[in-house]
Amino acid sequence: LVSRKKKSEDTVIEINNEKVGVGDPTFVFGPCSVESYEQVAAVAASIQSKGLKLIRGGAYKPRTSPYDFQGLGLEGLKILKQISKEYGLAVVTEIVTPTHIEEALDYVDVIQIGARNMQNFELLKAVGATNKPVLLKRGLAATIDEFIHAAEYIMSKGNENIILCERGIRTYEKATRNTLDISAVPILKQETHLPVFVDVTHSTGRRDLLLPCAKAAIAIGADGVMAEVHPDPSVALSDSQQQMDISQFDAFYNEIQKFMKQY
Ligand code: PEP
Ligand code: MN
Repeated sequence: LVSRKKKSEDTVIEINNEKVGVGDPTFVFGPCSVESYEQVAAVAASIQSKGLKLIRGGAYKPRTSPYDFQGLGLEGLKILKQISKEYGLAVVTEIVTPTHIEEALDYVDVIQIGARNMQNFELLKAVGATNKPVLLKRGLAATIDEFIHAAEYIMSKGNENIILCERGIRTYEKATRNTLDISAVPILKQETHLPVFVDVTHSTGRRDLLLPCAKAAIAIGADGVMAEVHPDPSVALSDSQQQMDISQFDAFYNEIQKFMKQY
């Protein structure tokens, strides 16, 4: 169902009056984790001032260690909902278990499936049975074929609003957190009719690489770019090494806009 052979036109998904999958790239910025109302509001104000329409932030965090911050859960979803109303932003947030989906539907505009859950088939089927747009991230060590099959799981249950997100894969290279597989973008665009995003934060794990990788993503034809922004990354409860602060975010977005004008 997700194959280009099945449908030749690009899938376009409308989220908060923004058309994803056609025209200018979509941007998804926001903190790694929802930590407090004030923290998310500071980022939301900056996103809103740029005329952007989406915000991200994790309420359920799949962390490597059980002793690391696990997210605020439902409380985090409530913060996101309040921010969404106050700033007019659509919320992109990760759901990690089918049992949370029903509850989350009231709070969330786009359900994110994280890399660690790309092959959680029961979760894929459960989000496939909703009509919420889904942002599906590529697994840590998933082939493109496995990634496409994961999207197929979702669509096989009836939900056609799927965005694929390349977020880097695990390789022997240690200079970056993961290896951004930039060629996955045109391959996914050829093989499927779905919008394709690039998450420059989790793929690189390096603030100095966010801008060049975002440019590469746009140049190669990505439909959107995701990056993490936190008012004070040094005290962030997750991913403190790689989030941009607000002034870095301003500079990043300025450069991206200049870059896009060249096209
Ligand atoms: C995230 O985007 O919050 C996240 C945890 O990313 P990934 O699932 O790609 O590691
Ligand atoms: Mn993160």
